[in-house]
Amino acid sequence: MSATFDNIRQYLKKVQEIASLSPREVKILSTPRRIKKTTLKVERKTFPAWRILFNDALGPGKGGIRFHPQASQDEVVSLAFWMMIKNALAELPYGGAKGAVKFDPKNASPKFQEAVSRKYIDAFYQVLGENQDIPAPDVYTDAQIIAWMLDEYEKKIGCHAPAAITGKPLELGGCQLRLDATAQGGFYIIREMIKTFRLPKSQLKIAIQGFGNAGANLAQMLEKDHLKIVAVSDSQGGTYQTSGLKMAEIKKVKEETRSVTNYSPGQSITNQEILELPVDILILAALENQITEANVSQVKARYIIEIANGPVTYQAEQELFARKKLVVPDVLANAGGVIVSYFEWCQNRTGNILEMSYLVKLLEEKMTHNWEKLTTLQKETSPPISLKTAAYLVAIKRILAAEKLRGRI
Ligand code: NAD
Repeated sequence: MSATFDNIRQYLKKVQEIASLSPREVKILSTPRRIKKTTLKVERKTFPAWRILFNDALGPGKGGIRFHPQASQDEVVSLAFWMMIKNALAELPYGGAKGAVKFDPKNASPKFQEAVSRKYIDAFYQVLGENQDIPAPDVYTDAQIIAWMLDEYEKKIGCHAPAAITGKPLELGGCQLRLDATAQGGFYIIREMIKTFRLPKSQLKIAIQGFGNAGANLAQMLEKDHLKIVAVSDSQGGTYQTSGLKMAEIKKVKEETRSVTNYSPGQSITNQEILELPVDILILAALENQITEANVSQVKARYIIEIANGPVTYQAEQELFARKKLVVPDVLANAGGVIVSYFEWCQNRTGNILEMSYLVKLLEEKMTHNWEKLTTLQKETSPPISLKTAAYLVAIKRILAAEKLRGRI
């Protein structure tokens, strides 16, 4: 298997040693329960597509669908594994799943994107459902794509089923909090981290790789909380200004020119350079495998926040840990999105409308509780372990308990 899942195997090996897992337990944790792969045909073009259920011991599969030209089976398997860990860590009644289409929607018309979205459901609807496997948006898929997918799903099964997919527009049963839920959750974690380590808030410099739904919303929340963002980037590169960037201006440039690189007062930087800037906090909100053995020695930030899934490889994370740098793991930092998806699913199933203020409070409580749980476990464990290893330990314990109760072990 590829590089990304190899990383996961290394974490599993480490957890196996610490928690004395049996070979059977490791097998369960490293084998997807269901891999569905097909090729979608749209206007004589073909696109490989996947839906993978990694584990369902804690409940139905849950995880987004990604449209990306570099999507691969290894990536989808890895993302489904991380969803399993994330959902277990957040104590949600879900297993882990993920889907993808190897397709670049950026240069495709809305009509073409709609056709791909509907074909995806056409191919996989039999394994999806509110009690089976519940998709959501991910990279380059948004509420409109989810709306087309829901519509196609309901056509196929012949009735309304809003809980079968989350991240819907409000008019179709979505949750008001969903759009910036991942950013909001990440914001609570960064706030707790600053409190825990008593960091001098006004002096901190922050760089953010990835200026999409998660990265851009988080940037605005941090700015509103008087934190200074000195660099941001998107797929074309980044912009850097030591005196601090104004997010409203960056957002405008991004909307008008499609890239933050066109922000002229800033110094133009590459996506490699942003990772190596002399900042205090580096937020990774783009794609996996960004900090690797090849560039880890150049990372200067003391705190690295994984908003993307798997942006720091196993070897790189171990090296950062040895250098006393803190990597806040993806399964903790970006759980806001799936937690709010869970609220949406509950609303759709019960027909009850939950008040926004209540949901915000619930999200905040869950995120801060998880931060405390992991930092406490980390402090109490000897020899010391990284925060990511602590997260895997907690989640795996919960998954294996469910597997045992079901009599599968
Ligand atoms: P998005 O599609 O809205 O944005 C992705 C951003 O990354 C864009 O700014 C894009 O230009 C940039 N990008 C793409 N390729 C890049 C590259 N090679 N180098 C640098 N930047 C690049 O996606 P998103 O929803 O913001 O998701 C970002 C990451 O966060 C993904 O890893 C995703 O899995 C993860 N995540 C998102 C959510 C969510 O709810 N949005 C939840 C959990 C995890």
